[in-house]
Amino acid sequence: MGRISADIVSVMVSVAVDKPYSYRVPDGMDVCRGSVVQVPLGPRKVMGVVWGEPKDQVAHNRLKDIDLAFDTPPLTDELMALVDWIAKYTLAQPGMVLRGVLRSPEAFGEDKPIAVFRFTGELPDRMTSARQRVIDVMQDGFAWQKRALVGETGVSPSVIEGMVKLGVLEQSFVPPPPIVQPPNPDHAPLQLNDEQKAALELLREHKPDEFGVSLLDGVTGSGKTEVFFEAVADCLRAGRQAVILLPEIALTHTFLKRFEDRFGARPGEWHSDMTPVQRARMWRSVARGKVQAVVGARSALFLPYPDLGLIVIDEEHDTAFKQADRVNYHARDMAVVRAHLAKARVILSSATPSVESRNNADQGRYAHVKMLGRFADAKMPDITAIDMKEDGPEKGEWIAPKLAREIFSALDKKEQVLLFLNRRGYAPLTLCRDCGYQYQCPDCSAWLVDHRFRGVLQCHHCGHEVQKPKTCKECGAEDSLIPIGPGIERIAEEAARRFPEARRVILSSDMGGIVAARERFEEIARGDYDLIIGTQLVAKGHHFPKLNLVGVLDADLGLAHGDPRAAEKTFQILTQVTGRAGRTGKAGRAFLQTYVPEHAVMQAMVCGDREAFYTHELRAREAAGLPPFGRLAALIISATEHDVAFGHARGLAVMAPKAPDEAKLKLFGPADAPVAMVRGRHRVRLLVQADKQFDLSGYVRYWLNEGPKVTGNLRVQVDIDPMSF
Ligand code: ADP
Ligand code: ZN
Repeated sequence: MGRISADIVSVMVSVAVDKPYSYRVPDGMDVCRGSVVQVPLGPRKVMGVVWGEPKDQVAHNRLKDIDLAFDTPPLTDELMALVDWIAKYTLAQPGMVLRGVLRSPEAFGEDKPIAVFRFTGELPDRMTSARQRVIDVMQDGFAWQKRALVGETGVSPSVIEGMVKLGVLEQSFVPPPPIVQPPNPDHAPLQLNDEQKAALELLREHKPDEFGVSLLDGVTGSGKTEVFFEAVADCLRAGRQAVILLPEIALTHTFLKRFEDRFGARPGEWHSDMTPVQRARMWRSVARGKVQAVVGARSALFLPYPDLGLIVIDEEHDTAFKQADRVNYHARDMAVVRAHLAKARVILSSATPSVESRNNADQGRYAHVKMLGRFADAKMPDITAIDMKEDGPEKGEWIAPKLAREIFSALDKKEQVLLFLNRRGYAPLTLCRDCGYQYQCPDCSAWLVDHRFRGVLQCHHCGHEVQKPKTCKECGAEDSLIPIGPGIERIAEEAARRFPEARRVILSSDMGGIVAARERFEEIARGDYDLIIGTQLVAKGHHFPKLNLVGVLDADLGLAHGDPRAAEKTFQILTQVTGRAGRTGKAGRAFLQTYVPEHAVMQAMVCGDREAFYTHELRAREAAGLPPFGRLAALIISATEHDVAFGHARGLAVMAPKAPDEAKLKLFGPADAPVAMVRGRHRVRLLVQADKQFDLSGYVRYWLNEGPKVTGNLRVQVDIDPMSF
């Protein structure tokens, strides 16, 4: 870490800027590369990091002073290099990337010391019964916090304060306890089975202090978690930090518990459900090397680990790892970059690896660690397709007769049943029977979804809500509005009618928040319900020992989009949700209601043939030049006026520089984006497809710099490696 002797340094500020600015180091202030500082920027005070010495000479007297240097270890070279790398790759401003690393200034405060009281041995001149009670409790000589003392004795706080004044009690301050206890790699390792042992041996073939990526590719329930826990233990023994990224905070709670069982201490947590104060404390504890293992959401990748040794991405295929915000990054890909910079290891774990990772393993870039059996005697579910063209449900119903029979028989046998439909609300569309009017969001090109339990129509893009009208807003007809298609609430309604005896629960991300969901998961695992009706909230990661039958009501749902990853995503979600069945003992069963039983995804599901799916999908992607065989970038140009957005996009398209080799680059568009309007902004899309070796980021950066100026309310968003479009 370079000490900086210069009295002028360059500082990257954590706002939307492209490059570091120069500042003067005031006398007596000690900074080095990586120091976290506060600097004036125009009228504001902003956080930043000393990035190095300035490249250009700037007149001394025109510079402003650094306000203050925070008392926190400097960012490591590795983390600073990561910020530069991400900015270059995603075309985000480095200041914005840095902002994701630094969090808020609160992160640099101090933990407040805790006030405690002790009995000095002096007795008060005048003893009261309240004072006597306090002294009785404190005879043991231990220090007490005020609140505990009040609770124990029932006296009012003023009694305690009074006794301090009289010298009977003495107040002092102690540092707060550490945020987490150190995890113990040898606390309670499980006895691994042969397949797990073999997998661990393969993971251990990489040297611990060298970069390397392994794809831990094992069917649901094969015991992957236990295997990567051993890799975490290895990392802890080597004295380096480990981070495990999870796609879903609904899963975190059970996961933390499993971690604690294995390592005898909770890991550091990092997710959106924490308060800013908790996060600030966690940030500085990590920076100071007091947290050896972290479990969290994708942004936990950017914590200031002093010496990161292992990154585990659990459910690596999950699209939740892609952030689509001001900085468009994929946490899995950035994990590989960070590990490379930190000389660390990456384990990508999944039952349904992304086609990208699968290809990297096939090509030998990643070690491919396969686990094909379920732990203990649990069997893979037996999967059947129900052809909706032949054996579809009765009019007004969504559950086909064959599935209904299976549900009855499972309920008879006291087995749990899961009905899965990945669509929130009651019905995706409401229309007027009399005039045909379709209820649409005023600000987005999207239908309003009927949320009957709450009595509202809601836009799933912007959250816009209206009370469900009694009369049609277009023609005024009464009681003419009808729901079209099913959402999860409608399935729940049908289930209540057809299986009234079953104890039912409905689970969807818009119902009751994370705490409620967690309680429901525990109740399901305990067996409090017979019939679970849910969206993808229940599809992932949970272990429901009593669940034996899964019915997928619309297996084709994800295929409808014109998205190159539609087949992959459908295969993943179907594998995840059917994998909930039969996790212990008995073989589970799953039924897929589909209009396209001949589709490659349905065929692979029914035959239990993952290889067939990957082979088919990789071949199709290769033929189309799609990732991982080609590269894509999406440019979304938006404005409040359609003409403005479209005109700018056309201007860009016309100016697109020629690639050195024509064949290596194709431009599609401009065209209206699939969601053509969001929050009142019209969206027009340009899509660039390039050869795998092509420097797409560099090309797009050059293009945008040379292209027409962005003015007014125009906005150009760049998404390198878009996940969907
Ligand atoms: P995956 O992550 O591959 O879906 P898990 O790691 O969740 O699978 O394991 C499935 C179940 O088997 C869990 O309940 C887990 O506790 C149990 N299990 C896995 N490996 C072992 C082991 N070696 N000893 C005891 N139980 C295990
Ligand atoms: Zn909307």
